[in-house]
Amino acid sequence: MNGVRGCAVARIEKKASRKKSEALYRVGRAQTGLGLFAAQDIPERKLIVEYIGKRIPTRLAQEIDRRRANKYLFEIDSRWTIDGASRLNLARYVNHSCDPNAEAESNRGRLMYRAIKPIAAGSEITLDYGEEHMELYFGAAGCLCPPCADMAKTLLAKKAGKKPARRSAKAAR
Ligand SMILES: [Zn+2]
Repeated sequence: MNGVRGCAVARIEKKASRKKSEALYRVGRAQTGLGLFAAQDIPERKLIVEYIGKRIPTRLAQEIDRRRANKYLFEIDSRWTIDGASRLNLARYVNHSCDPNAEAESNRGRLMYRAIKPIAAGSEITLDYGEEHMELYFGAAGCLCPPCADMAKTLLAKKAGKKPARRSAKAAR
């Protein structure tokens, strides 16, 4: 790399790091491992993050899925799938919820996550991964997302003949 280009790269990197401090999201500790959280209030319809990774043929992705070998494959269409397993792909930290606040949309081969409701700073950003993914990668354990965990608790409490305990998060509000 020559000197001039080196300078340009340094400038771009500076810009990128400035952008980072105004980031919409951050990786943080979620109920089940890591998650992606809103670093500021995110309005409804706002594009949040791109799901980045290598594009692989969907046919190949389906084979990998059959072996349950990579849970970060995101199908764009019948031809292309994004392999988002790289840690550079921060969108991979978005966890599943059956009551999500974001959705994925594809545009010219790129995959973006968009807010489908206002997301308050500090809230976890979630997406509905769809039934197929849940069956493949969650299996018998079933869904562990907060709405489902709440429902499971309620059912268990009913079975035990007790009133369900109120969630501490709700009580604290
Ligand atoms: Zn769920």
